[in-house]
Amino acid sequence: MTPTSVAQAVYVLAALLFVLSLAGLSRQETARRGNVAGAVGMVLALGATIVLALDTSRRPALVTALLIASVLLVGAVVGTWRARRVEMTQMPELIAILHSFVGLAAVLVGYNSYLAVPVAEAGDAAHLVEVYLGVLVGSVTFTGSVVAYLKLSGRARSAPLRLPGRNLLNLSALVASVALLVWFVGAPSVWPLLLMTVVALALGWHLVASIGGGDMPVVVSMLNSYSGWAAAAAGFMLSNDLLIVTGALVGSSGAILSYIMCRAMNRSFVSVILGGFGTEEGTVSASTGEQGEHRETHADDVARLLADARSVVITPGYGMAVAKAQYPVAELVELLRSRGVDVRFGVHPVAGRLPGHMNVLLAEARVPYDVVFEMDEVNDRFPDTDVVLVIGANDTVNPAALDDPGSPIAGMPVLHVWEARDVVVFKRSMATGYAGVQNPLFFRENTSMLFGDAKERVEGIVAHLRVG
Ligand code: NDP
Repeated sequence: MTPTSVAQAVYVLAALLFVLSLAGLSRQETARRGNVAGAVGMVLALGATIVLALDTSRRPALVTALLIASVLLVGAVVGTWRARRVEMTQMPELIAILHSFVGLAAVLVGYNSYLAVPVAEAGDAAHLVEVYLGVLVGSVTFTGSVVAYLKLSGRARSAPLRLPGRNLLNLSALVASVALLVWFVGAPSVWPLLLMTVVALALGWHLVASIGGGDMPVVVSMLNSYSGWAAAAAGFMLSNDLLIVTGALVGSSGAILSYIMCRAMNRSFVSVILGGFGTEEGTVSASTGEQGEHRETHADDVARLLADARSVVITPGYGMAVAKAQYPVAELVELLRSRGVDVRFGVHPVAGRLPGHMNVLLAEARVPYDVVFEMDEVNDRFPDTDVVLVIGANDTVNPAALDDPGSPIAGMPVLHVWEARDVVVFKRSMATGYAGVQNPLFFRENTSMLFGDAKERVEGIVAHLRVG
């Protein structure tokens, strides 16, 4: 048994743990176990990779060890620093920027792999295609993820960029990439690779910049998928089986998630990727102005409303995450349930800024799983519901998605909260949500607005209910 064969065996074990991790993460009850399996798999994978590097390196072992130690140190310090400081609401942007690192790594590995291969082998077409695809997918992932990061962190507008002839631009980039591949394989040199890198970087930027508003959730999971394929391509170039397996797992699970999210948002995958391909230009109404009178309410009034209610549905959104209101919300639910009120959560598939965002927050606050329902499970119940509490949600409860064909979120399924007897919306102002569209719900007769930080307002209601 050589160190290399041991490391290969550990790779198989790590790959198995990654599969178990994904299986565990698919259900809330087993998610913690899934996370542990993933973490153990990653530690094993790192250990085996270090052993492999030391065993196969042509440099003196000490030099290799020092190189590995220094990159591990930099990665661990930066990673720990960021992970400790990041707020739950910043997770999507952190994930987006991490995807960009995977893309960049694939590009660097590609160039290194091309330049390091002896000239005699450079004619090997399979290797050249590997390098080319790795750099292509890596470049698209890199700039795409950077743009997604800028949009999710609010550093760039979330609205889609509408360049004239954008589909033609994308198509030209694709045709140019194929032509450059033929050149690269036919007469290998660094020029076609460099030219393609520029084209692919521009394509990644344009693809994601053209997507906005309600389609961003799909973009996040799509880039997740791309980063997986970029890692798999790097695995081929480095002849690293575990990287190929891991990349393929991330790539395919990201693709499946994108598909599920597209279905949930009633969008076609192709039209999302192509930045609204086929949608007519200039139909976007994106009305941000006020649409009538809104009615304001206060914590004590809402407490009275709840005290008399028999059925309550809570629809949480991004604002609940910002305010960290999940803890008092859990308290409110417990209090109402102890008084015999039927309380349920209605969770929209893209509420928040991350797939499953609300489920994570509610689980964190120990809300029982059996009162948390998906949108499709609660949408029929609203006509029989006394009070709906919209806590920091906006786009996901916007009736314009159904009524206004020109709206950027037109066609997106939403929670039909307005069908309930009374609706209370918790937010700080009349500002729009992520998609930048005004919400006619706020001006409906059965809606009242409870302005202020969601956490403080829910705490206020709990206090009134306890004394009342
Ligand atoms: P929105 O982003 O539409 O709205 C959130 C609302 O919360 C805002 O209107 C804001 O109003 C309010 N808010 C913010 N902070 C507070 C606070 N401290 N207290 C009370 N209210 C607050 O949220 P939704 O969850 O309804 O919709 C998610 C949106 O994000 C969708 O458009 C979706 O497409 C998009 N998206 C989702 C992703 C995902 O994977 N889930 C990924 C990327 C984007 P105010 O400022 O007035 O307080």
